[in-house]
Amino acid sequence: MTSQRTRQRLVQRLSDQGVTDLQVLDVIADTPRHIFLDEALSHRAYEDTALPIGYGQTLSQPYIVARMTEVLLGAAGKLDKVLEIGTGSGYQTTILAQLVKQVYSVERIKPLQDKARERLRKLGLRNVELKYADGNFGWPDRGPYDGIISCAAPREVPQELLNQLAPNGVLVIPVGGDTQELRMVIRDGDSDEFISRVLEGAKFVPMLSGTAR
Ligand code: SAH
Repeated sequence: MTSQRTRQRLVQRLSDQGVTDLQVLDVIADTPRHIFLDEALSHRAYEDTALPIGYGQTLSQPYIVARMTEVLLGAAGKLDKVLEIGTGSGYQTTILAQLVKQVYSVERIKPLQDKARERLRKLGLRNVELKYADGNFGWPDRGPYDGIISCAAPREVPQELLNQLAPNGVLVIPVGGDTQELRMVIRDGDSDEFISRVLEGAKFVPMLSGTAR
């Protein structure tokens, strides 16, 4: 179930779906996804599907994790600091942490954050900082960021996230309600102009407001 062969099959599937960044595929092949799930679901960890993690939230589908990470890596010049909105299980956080210098991740549901923190500790990842807060406001104290990834979909791109992009910084974010689109927004140099591009359709949990215990 957790064998290298099972993981390799998942990676093959992602590559068949058009993910080409070898660094990203390697990190996905090396990362145990089953530890991000409750035991009852861990046998499904290497299916290319979103899976429940409690509190009405889901562990993102491997394809979308790979795709968003690949877009970020491809579009950003340097990735010293990356902000993630929606830590959830910590899976996307873990993938990012192996590819960029420092990851900051915000989650609004305290018990999910606690579990993610424990997993990241067990994995020995030292370049991640977590914050319990409403990610609509980003994490201004740690910014600006070379990259921002949102794992939850707001109706509109939050202005605060744009404000926290470094020069040429890249935001990858699903936007919408019942129908969503994955967007990439790049700060044009050090100006306050942003270039936005729609990448593909998406299906994420909604970005909610405030925090929950
Ligand atoms: N990357 C996570 C995805 C979890 S689902 C994983 O792979 O497990 C999206 C997460 O976004 C949920 O945990 C949800 O609680 C969180 N979320 C939704 N709205 C948020 C907000 N305003 N601020 C911070 N986190 C938010």
